[in-house]
Amino acid sequence: MALPKIDNLEIIKVTEDVLLIHQKKPPYYFSCCDGLIILPKKGRTTLTIVLDLNIEPNLINQINDFYGPISFYVCTHGHMDHMAHVHHWETLGAKIYAPIPEHKYLLDLYNFYEGFGFSDVMDFSLIKKFGELNGYQKCNHVNPFNPGDILEFGDFIIETIPLIGHSKAHVGFLLPRERIVHISCLGFDQHEPGEDGFGPWYGFEGCSISQYLKDIDLTESIFLERADFLTSSHSYIVKSPDIIPFTYMREKIAKNQIIVDQAILSLKPSKNEFSIDDFLKLDLFFPKKKMKGFLLDIYNFWESGIISKHIERSKYLR
Ligand SMILES: [Zn+2]
Repeated sequence: MALPKIDNLEIIKVTEDVLLIHQKKPPYYFSCCDGLIILPKKGRTTLTIVLDLNIEPNLINQINDFYGPISFYVCTHGHMDHMAHVHHWETLGAKIYAPIPEHKYLLDLYNFYEGFGFSDVMDFSLIKKFGELNGYQKCNHVNPFNPGDILEFGDFIIETIPLIGHSKAHVGFLLPRERIVHISCLGFDQHEPGEDGFGPWYGFEGCSISQYLKDIDLTESIFLERADFLTSSHSYIVKSPDIIPFTYMREKIAKNQIIVDQAILSLKPSKNEFSIDDFLKLDLFFPKKKMKGFLLDIYNFWESGIISKHIERSKYLR
């Protein structure tokens, strides 16, 4: 079947009946992510299922006109770029699934605010603005599952893979029969081969670099042993046995460590003790000098998380 042409969407076949969808121009940085559409197939399921495709409502409508009705929608975790528009799939009739405990973030933005620790450092009004900016609206009902659960929709099977270095609920998907592994937000963010992106992201308190490295090893072995294709929330389709995604992610983490190590060395001669603010002033990861208002607060919070995890691992502070 020919693929529909929809403005602002890239629709690519991973296999004959599994599509990767990408919104080309998100209205805001954290408002969208790429995801998969599982089309009906004889011997699998007569239903259409969407996996973690958080795109703007007008685009969801156009996908729904062409491929709907959508019966089930599975979210991978409670970061804003993975949940802002999920409510719209629900409005069109899809049953929503999301991993515990972040499934609660889809039901109320306040849970997102508390769950990720924003509540320790800033007022809820800032997160409300952040939610509005990204088009967040809450869902009415979400079916929770545990990271690691196997989800079955008819004869379509999803093995969820806990990848909790990124976030405590974060899952990847292995579609064992389709031989596709979707590594979600793990940090392979090259939309074209060779592009340079931010890489793995671990800005919240609950993230962990050592867990991240284990998650990268785990997904690499699953990809090489059980899949032919790798997809993710922000990248092109990779074919086995190309291990570029894994090399890229490991290198990014190693480079981030060097950035923080060098900052430690540059601060050391002038001070015996330094605070996280000394590091934030250096704009190591985000161009915060150009930011103001609530975004500056949010980016400071994230960058403190990233920096403090590398400080813990630095050989210069032992
Ligand atoms: Zn994420």
